[in-house]
Amino acid sequence: MTYPFPLWDLPTVPIAGSDFRFPVRHVYCVGRNYAEHAKEMGGDASREPPFFFSKPADAVVPVLPPAVGRIRYPLATSNFHHEIELVIAIGKAGVQVAPERAIELVFGYATGLDMTRRDLQHDMREKKRPWDIGKSFAQAAPIAPIHRVAETGVLTQGAIRLDVNGARRQQGDLADMVWDVPHTLAFLTQYYELLPGDLVFTGTPAGVGAVVAGDRLDAHIDGLSELSIEIVPS
Ligand code: MN
Repeated sequence: MTYPFPLWDLPTVPIAGSDFRFPVRHVYCVGRNYAEHAKEMGGDASREPPFFFSKPADAVVPVLPPAVGRIRYPLATSNFHHEIELVIAIGKAGVQVAPERAIELVFGYATGLDMTRRDLQHDMREKKRPWDIGKSFAQAAPIAPIHRVAETGVLTQGAIRLDVNGARRQQGDLADMVWDVPHTLAFLTQYYELLPGDLVFTGTPAGVGAVVAGDRLDAHIDGLSELSIEIVPS
């Protein structure tokens, strides 16, 4: 096979405790999956099925601690937001999977950031247009190493929090998710066949806010690798 220009590297994420890397196929994201965050976004997640959007695989920025990742302040925004999220890494194919079987698809978990151009997202939302330019852009998905489910067990609770420049911005517990991991995957597989290499960002707790160039973000989920990034000028 020949190509008109060189092939780019497949996006990959380190797998904790090994030399393997997880090749990324597709990045799915869940909207409004913590009640308090749904309220701060002007909605009520408690009675609705989850909804989904995507990021391109090449938005993934793998960060291997103790390194601090660097992402550029993106184009065309003046309100660039952090959203800390539990990320599910998919290891087996599955479609129309029942919640009771959905956990079988899980390869592991990681700490991730759903970075968002909030001004563009809200502008599109008000015009009933797709969210893409608010959510899908270069370096929009920093992620720490993936921990295999054999190591972590099934994650149902644990602290999830984010500090910016040492000050707590987001704090919650995985137990507060409106739709837990099995139900999120069950819903998602009604619309898509999940495949090995897929990542699923599972929504953010309350406290989202803006960051600017020079800010340092430290993301923590109990039992997983820390994720630290610095925003650099565009
Ligand atoms: Mn999000």
